[in-house]
Amino acid sequence: MALSGVEIFKLLPKTNCKKCGHPTCLAFAMKLAQRQATLDLCPDVSEEAKQKLGEASAPPVRPITIGSGDKAVKMGEETVLFRHDKKFVNPAVFAVEVRDSQSEADIASVCAQVISSEIDRVGQKLRIDAIVISNESGDAAKLEAAAKTVASKAAGVPVIISTTNPQAAESAVKHFTDKKPVIFGANAANVEAMAAVAKNNKAALGIAAANLDELSVLTEKVKSLGVEDIIMDSGAKKAKEIIANNTLIRRAAIKKNFKPLGYPIINFIQREDSMHEALVATVCVAKYASIIVLSSMEKWKNLALFALRQNIYTDPQVPMQVEQKIYNIGDVKPDSPLFVTTNFSLTYFIVSGEIENSKVPSRLAVMDSEGLSVLTAWAAGKFTATKIAQFINESGIEKEVSNKELIIPGYVAILSGSIEEKLPGWKITVGPREANAIPTFLKSRV
Ligand code: SF4
Repeated sequence: MALSGVEIFKLLPKTNCKKCGHPTCLAFAMKLAQRQATLDLCPDVSEEAKQKLGEASAPPVRPITIGSGDKAVKMGEETVLFRHDKKFVNPAVFAVEVRDSQSEADIASVCAQVISSEIDRVGQKLRIDAIVISNESGDAAKLEAAAKTVASKAAGVPVIISTTNPQAAESAVKHFTDKKPVIFGANAANVEAMAAVAKNNKAALGIAAANLDELSVLTEKVKSLGVEDIIMDSGAKKAKEIIANNTLIRRAAIKKNFKPLGYPIINFIQREDSMHEALVATVCVAKYASIIVLSSMEKWKNLALFALRQNIYTDPQVPMQVEQKIYNIGDVKPDSPLFVTTNFSLTYFIVSGEIENSKVPSRLAVMDSEGLSVLTAWAAGKFTATKIAQFINESGIEKEVSNKELIIPGYVAILSGSIEEKLPGWKITVGPREANAIPTFLKSRV
């Protein structure tokens, strides 16, 4: 069970030395109890206290990493029920299924789609993260052949081997040695053998239960067999069952610190109708799935799900930002217009979108304003004449343009004189206040 703030306080050094960044040990203990701080911030805590507190301060949903290298994905580690309480930590993993009854060419084609699914959005790489290899045929040799194809055609992509046959799992998992795969399919009938395969191959083990009661019994059993990295399927298939079970699991883990359900959730939601599948996937993204298994990857579906996942897993207290740099929009020439704006992602998308709409190739200088929009950044002293001038000078853009003209947002027209003073030789033009006036503004200059 979770310790209270006072119980934690009793285990701390009680010197109030402030090294943890809190004014007193009691204040730090309260933060630990609320899971808003981590024990490693106190350098003087005793080994005995560390052991007692370690478990109490561990995240209620166990963190698990699957895969290896730069495509590895981390899941779990969540501490809240609602995103506005703090933030959701590790984004849901999208996995697509291949079946061992499919031809080698079809499996290779899915692998190629997974590899090419990556897009860049607001500086983050988003993609289909994993492949589920299902033993649909029931034949161990076919599962192994499918695993071999995935291992060679989608090298580095995390895999989930789905079978209830321990021997089939054993032969397939060999193709992912040291790649931290998941073996999915442990149930009441095969749990000992499946746990042994997972343990011997350093794999995570996925439990397929019929309901939540069975699930909590099985997770305890698997843990007692020496496998700590567990992924849970409660058996829910319909959207309303998924919402109900996933919510009960997350509440039990977070509110009650109920360890048997403190593991990442996997939802298998394959549907024949892709739109239906996408809708169910949105439910899973919003309600606590760590792995969502899809049947297909249409571009429209990927884009919708990637954007939803990114938005839900963004820290609501930290504005989304784009990278500070000069963005070329269209086929720019030395005399193309040069705009400057802040790096709030919404500002960037709206301004760059309107420049694109204008069909007038332009440069957009995006300045780091800690993710604030133009007026807010100006009011906060982060989008000032001095800072804009320094950014333009350091960007080196002067060498690429033939007419040293900088177009500033209409909302900060007041800065035009002082920027001109700080950027000798540059002409400062006041652009529109609203981005939707950019096309008319640009066309009027041609
Ligand atoms: S660093 Fe440790 S001993 Fe010092 S105030 Fe924080 S909790 Fe107390």
